[in-house]
Amino acid sequence: MHDPTTLAFLAALAGGAIYLGHVALWPYRPCPACHGTGHQTSPLNPRAARPCHACGGQRLRPRLAYRLYRNHRDHKENQR
Ligand SMILES: [Zn+2]
Repeated sequence: MHDPTTLAFLAALAGGAIYLGHVALWPYRPCPACHGTGHQTSPLNPRAARPCHACGGQRLRPRLAYRLYRNHRDHKENQR
């Protein structure tokens, strides 16, 4: 069982499982539009700010894998 292909496959499987577990534990990342501040400042006046449109001031955005999971879940619920 020391076939390098099998080992690579097992390593990829383990890496994928760790990644999915990590996404389940940490489903969000800092919003890229506001860099996790929840607001955006004007380029003309750094003291002028507005709530971030991308995250709505929540400072967080769901990560790609979590979005895919949610889409998948919602899709299944719509089928019922
Ligand atoms: Zn934002």
